[in-house]
Amino acid sequence: MAPPQSNRSPASSLFVDNASSGDREPHAVGAEEDAARRPLRRPTRSMRAYATMLAVLGGAGAAEMVTTTHEAQAATHPDTVEGAIEAPLAALGHIAAEESQNDTASPPVPPAPQPPRILPVKPSTEATAAAIGQVNKSQRIAAQRAAAREAAQRRREAAEREARRNRVVWPVEGTVTSNYGSRWGSTHYGLDIANSVGTPIKAVKRGTVVEAGPASGFGLWVRIEHEDGTITVYGHINEALVSEGETVEAGETVAEVGNRGQSTGPHLHFEVWGTDSRKVNPLAWLTERGARP
Ligand SMILES: [Zn+2]
Repeated sequence: MAPPQSNRSPASSLFVDNASSGDREPHAVGAEEDAARRPLRRPTRSMRAYATMLAVLGGAGAAEMVTTTHEAQAATHPDTVEGAIEAPLAALGHIAAEESQNDTASPPVPPAPQPPRILPVKPSTEATAAAIGQVNKSQRIAAQRAAAREAAQRRREAAEREARRNRVVWPVEGTVTSNYGSRWGSTHYGLDIANSVGTPIKAVKRGTVVEAGPASGFGLWVRIEHEDGTITVYGHINEALVSEGETVEAGETVAEVGNRGQSTGPHLHFEVWGTDSRKVNPLAWLTERGARP
């Protein structure tokens, strides 16, 4: 008949359960013999390492306490000792593994917080001012160049106008038959250029028609006053093609070659009256101003 369960202590109850395997009766043998028969209940290598580690961490007293605790647990809960030790070991091992991984992986260290930088406001303003100044300078240069181009263009146009105003051309195509000088006992003040009647006669220079009509000795004539006060005379013409007061340009047709007045043949009698009303050598006057037949 089995003994009543109430008489058994919890520990002996455990051992009874374990004893079902048939090899353990700790309460019936000595401590040393018991240890020899239960090698698994000795501190395993991992347990000793754990104890050693704790000893290092917490001092020898802690290690002894753990060992004592282990032995007590081995006496009371032989089957849970390994698990009770292995679990923290595994946890420690896991932590160690993580730490090892952390050590070996060497993740990028986050940058240390930097003190707030104060932006250089004044240099930025100066840079902006410099940029604006550069733009203004470029604009000034461009404006100056544009003004210079316009001024040069104005000078060219003025020079062209002046050249047109002062341009002097040969009055008519034909053959020079007489020039300024003594002729037949008197002075011939004109330049005779012979050509057929109706040949166009041109104003030698820009000016204003001061007379267009009959003239003693010349039959018909045209007189043109120029800006400097010089007057050019076109005599023996067949017909005047301009009227008094009309402004004409150099090269503009003002009359036709004729044979009117005291003429020995169709020709143009051309004279130049200076500002002092003295008659000047017309051929010299023309050639000095670039006019050529
Ligand atoms: Zn003449």
